[in-house]
Amino acid sequence: MALLTNLEELNACYIDGRFMSPTGGVIEVWNPATGKIAGYVPNGGVSEARAAVAAAHAAFPGWARMLPAERAGYLKRWAQLMLEHADDLAHILVAEQGKPFAEAYEEAEGSALFAEWYAEEGKRAYGETVPPSAPNKRILVIRQPVGVAALITPWNYPATMIARKAAPALAAGCTIVIKPSSLTPLTAVALARLAHEAGFPAGVINLVTGRASEIGDEFMANPHVKKVSFTGSTEVGKQLIRASADQVKRLSLELGGNAPFIVFPDADLDLAVAAAVGNKFENCGQMCNGINVIYVHEEIMEAFTDRLMDRVNQLKVGHGDEPDVKLGPVIDTRSLDNIHALVTDAVQSGARLLTGGHRLTGDAYGAGSFYAPTVLAGVEPDMKLANEEIFGPVAPLIPFNDETELLSRVNDTPYGLAAYVFTRDVRRVFEMSERLEVGMVAVNSASLSVPQAPFGGIKQSGNGREGGHFGLEEFMNVKYISITL
Ligand code: NAP
Repeated sequence: MALLTNLEELNACYIDGRFMSPTGGVIEVWNPATGKIAGYVPNGGVSEARAAVAAAHAAFPGWARMLPAERAGYLKRWAQLMLEHADDLAHILVAEQGKPFAEAYEEAEGSALFAEWYAEEGKRAYGETVPPSAPNKRILVIRQPVGVAALITPWNYPATMIARKAAPALAAGCTIVIKPSSLTPLTAVALARLAHEAGFPAGVINLVTGRASEIGDEFMANPHVKKVSFTGSTEVGKQLIRASADQVKRLSLELGGNAPFIVFPDADLDLAVAAAVGNKFENCGQMCNGINVIYVHEEIMEAFTDRLMDRVNQLKVGHGDEPDVKLGPVIDTRSLDNIHALVTDAVQSGARLLTGGHRLTGDAYGAGSFYAPTVLAGVEPDMKLANEEIFGPVAPLIPFNDETELLSRVNDTPYGLAAYVFTRDVRRVFEMSERLEVGMVAVNSASLSVPQAPFGGIKQSGNGREGGHFGLEEFMNVKYISITL
């Protein structure tokens, strides 16, 4: 089935079961590795968003009443099609997002995993019975789908970020309208094509590409939208919180992070170094739960740094479709400039560049937005890059010697998404896990996103969870029923 091979066919919104190209012009989608256009999508706005919400609203009663096992059938077919088309999806991801093909393929497979897992979890949206306070009373608690859910997603994981929201929403019985990032909308249209092929009833899944603030405003103003699930920057998240006030709209927010990676002297050093490189340079450092700063105990800083440099020096940078490439470009030149400004500020404030620290240019990189894998020593906690989300292939190293002081330092941030701790000391495992002010802690590893676990943050990293039964609950209302016999 050659569903996804022609990128021109991805130039469409998907509304009420039909692919359509509205007349309001197109958005150019750029390939960050070549600086050339990868494709186009419609530049939709209020009218497309309104039509999509109307379609989702009309489809809601039928979808919500369907048996969970029947909804599971659609989700499983969607998952199966994602797997069958993982190769095509990966090529689209490489073309518009830039990540290496192997990572893109893994993302396509991971998206299918979310659809597959929630197909089953939807069957377990259990209620409760509660002991009453009188003999002739009965108390029931049931869960019901919230209604139409609007899903706004970012560019760093264009497939998984959609699957991680769409799968629980659909499994819960909600109908959805997806608004993908304008930087990576082609993957979203490809997923909509696969959903169409999977046979979802018209209006259950809708997709609108285009002008973010117009579409976002319509989601907030339209009373048929009962829930908005957003992943993106803290700045836009705050705007949505303000805009949600008028209708007290339900919101879940997956926002930015500033994850510390902490290595104690008793850690397995090879394991820690491999995990640091794996996480820090995945997706070219553009990961919300990506390591921002690496804190290493001063006793082992030299050994850690030597091993880290060995690995970083082996990282091949290039076009995601080339063999053995481990780092693609960053998403665009604006991002490149932000990353470089943070590195420059650190160097001017006394940090030492151990490698990298510059844009990669020349024949191999063309007009792509490539940045050299960068390691910085002598970083101070008050430098900008230790406090702002770097979102690039830059690893700052900060030494520490006191556990309590370290904890207060890493907790002193408005963010609270993830943290990584490397130690073999059981007391420290619990001490750190319980006292780090974040939504997720990984001990002796640096990967977190799996369908069955609750992914999400605290403080200004957001609220709500994606994954596990927690993810399903984000799309359900709790209803208490009191019956007098
Ligand atoms: P962004 O600029 O906030 O955009 C995210 C999405 O919001 C895009 O679809 C964007 O559309 C849309 N948007 C922008 N302005 C809007 C508005 N006024 N109303 C409604 N929607 C609006 O973030 P990004 O640069 O794509 O993503 C990077 C950020 O996402 C990082 O901070 C990262 O940490 C965070 N993130 C968090 C998680 C998590 O789980 N916590 C996961 C991944 C990423 P346009 O593209 O059309 O502007």
